[in-house]
Amino acid sequence: MILIFLGPPGAGKGTQAAHIVERYNIPQLSTGDMLRAAVAAQTPVGKKAKEVMDAGNLVSDDIVAAIVEERIEAEDCAGGFLLDGFPRTDVQAEMLDAMLQKKERAVDVVIELKVDETALLDRLKKRIAETRARGDEPRKDDNEETFKYRLQVYKDLTAPLIPFYAAQDKLKEVDGMGSVAAVSAQIDAILDDFGPKN
Ligand code: ADP
Repeated sequence: MILIFLGPPGAGKGTQAAHIVERYNIPQLSTGDMLRAAVAAQTPVGKKAKEVMDAGNLVSDDIVAAIVEERIEAEDCAGGFLLDGFPRTDVQAEMLDAMLQKKERAVDVVIELKVDETALLDRLKKRIAETRARGDEPRKDDNEETFKYRLQVYKDLTAPLIPFYAAQDKLKEVDGMGSVAAVSAQIDAILDDFGPKN
């Protein structure tokens, strides 16, 4: 099963991804996490990406697609994977289709997590407070101003993927406003039609 998670920053993609990984035994490929790892390791990609990410802008399509293409070669992706944070532009969606086609694979389902904007900002403030309470520093792009900018980037560049996948009949909407368990239950109901679960 090849699954894409779409949704604005703070929609709960990471939280739900953890649930899917466990239930369906497929890896989560978070481009945000992969890029942050590259930044921390100060690789050439990481050096290029750091400022772009801190400002809430998108890293170039080529860089991100190359990271994904390499990652999906790994053995643990043979039975499927969950893409979290990719594709994020229409160009990336086309690059993804092309790389999957080469392997005679295709996206099975796209889950859109729908959450209203005020809730997103409240969740951000909570996430920052929890991080500080643990004694950690919040992500550089997790402040109110950059977050609002990331939300706008989502609306401008990523939201157009919603009709793109709807036209392919792959889009499933999930109400992301309920409890974590309630959101998971909706996702399970959709995914149980696909492939084996744990
Ligand atoms: P969130 O889901 O909280 O918005 P992510 O952790 O997915 O954040 O991404 C953080 C940052 O990493 C993005 O703002 C962007 O700079 C970069 N990034 C992640 N995925 C992509 C992508 N597919 N294309 C371009 N940039 C990306």
